[in-house]
Amino acid sequence: MDARTVYQNLLNWQKETALLGSIAGVLGWDQRVMMPPKGARYRAEQLALLSGMIHQRATDPRVGEWLSQLEQSELTQPPDSETAVNIRQWRRDYAKLTKLPTELVMEFTRVTSLAEKVWEEAREESNFSLFQPHLEQIVRLVREIAERLGYEREPYDALLDEYEQGMTAQEVEQLFEPLRRHTPELVARLQAAPRQPNTDILRRHYPRAAQEAFCRYVAETIGFDWQRGRLDPTVHPFATRLSPGDVRITTRYYEDFLNPSLFGTIHELGHALYEMGLPEEHWGTPMGSSVSLGVHESQSRMWENFVGRSRAFWEFFYPTAQQHFDALKDVALDDFVFAVNAVRPSTIRVEADEVTYNLHILLRFELELALLRGDLQVADLPAAWNERFKAYMGFEPPNDAEGVLQDVHWSGGMIGYFPTYTLGNLFAAQLFEAAERDLGDLHAQFRKGEFTPLLEWLRTNIHQQGQRYPAKELIQRVTGEPPSAEPLLRYFERKFLPLYGLA
Ligand code: ZN
Repeated sequence: MDARTVYQNLLNWQKETALLGSIAGVLGWDQRVMMPPKGARYRAEQLALLSGMIHQRATDPRVGEWLSQLEQSELTQPPDSETAVNIRQWRRDYAKLTKLPTELVMEFTRVTSLAEKVWEEAREESNFSLFQPHLEQIVRLVREIAERLGYEREPYDALLDEYEQGMTAQEVEQLFEPLRRHTPELVARLQAAPRQPNTDILRRHYPRAAQEAFCRYVAETIGFDWQRGRLDPTVHPFATRLSPGDVRITTRYYEDFLNPSLFGTIHELGHALYEMGLPEEHWGTPMGSSVSLGVHESQSRMWENFVGRSRAFWEFFYPTAQQHFDALKDVALDDFVFAVNAVRPSTIRVEADEVTYNLHILLRFELELALLRGDLQVADLPAAWNERFKAYMGFEPPNDAEGVLQDVHWSGGMIGYFPTYTLGNLFAAQLFEAAERDLGDLHAQFRKGEFTPLLEWLRTNIHQQGQRYPAKELIQRVTGEPPSAEPLLRYFERKFLPLYGLA
């Protein structure tokens, strides 16, 4: 068989597997948005059946044989051609899946699903000792997984690679170092500034229907296409692409707090625009898939923070916001912009502002590294958390529920995931600077309600590239520089010092 025919066989096979995955996606969306509680049991069986079928197809020995044949062929050249990219990434996925013995995967699933239930209880009671033996098991299992997957320098690299391909713990440490050095000082300066925002205005009464109408208006003005997407309410917001013609976002409404629906919608919108911008002709292959969690998060953070919390954005949207919300009728634009940009150390990561957010991530990343390097025992984790938290934020969390137990990630075995949030912030700042170099003053465009130039720029430079280049290389190619913390630090100073009357 010639290489083209082999490639076509593999392509058909992988696209069918992707179709099965998208069916699981529909069931997953329904489970989180629509399904009545008693549907849970059979839904779990439906999803387990599908994921078994998907796993079987993905690890089918024929995939390995096809890949071996293709790797000898001219289709791997040049390395950034469609076929070469797909072959490279399919090999990576296949290798990962086939390196882990079925018993290990099953044990991991069993341990983490039990751990998630116990974690909920432990958080409820703010009792770490309940969760401790489960987390000990998880750390042991992810170490074993890392050994099986392989790494060059340290086990954490293998875990991180699951979420941010090609990035190592050491690289992340170096990238985060300037943030670690400068952020606490910046936060302290802002805290001590004579001008402080009045955030009470965001806690007035905001009727749900008005929030929904306004969120829809913002989403479509930025570029969300209702012919290819939906916005629905849920408990834990997310974005999901079910097919190139069907990308869905979700949000949550609190009538006594405007931020979650508004900025949550813009955040998920950023994820959705990335998914909507992936090349449709490559659907179901690596060339048609997003490149990494860090780059995904760069899209959501850019729209949420760099665009959605800018004064220019609100110069355009604020008059409409005032029409939607009586609560804002007596609030001046500048007071509103200051309030949505308040910087305050707080215990809960998901509620953090864009400056202190990275301190939450640094803390988790450092503790994960210490656990994996054997420098920290799970039993000592709460004390280590509180100590580091105090060093970064200036106070200790009142209890473990608002400290070490607040996030679901570790109970699900997701160690190595947290750094991608801050990588997203770093990439966003770097991409935003590059976009301004190419497009001129973006804020002048936002002021006029023009978001298409930025969106088109992201489409061409990021979305349309799929997985052609690893994230690090993509950033370097688009911005001319390797990933760096400097653009984010520059952005913070330029934005927050004037807001707080310090520049
Ligand atoms: Zn996100």
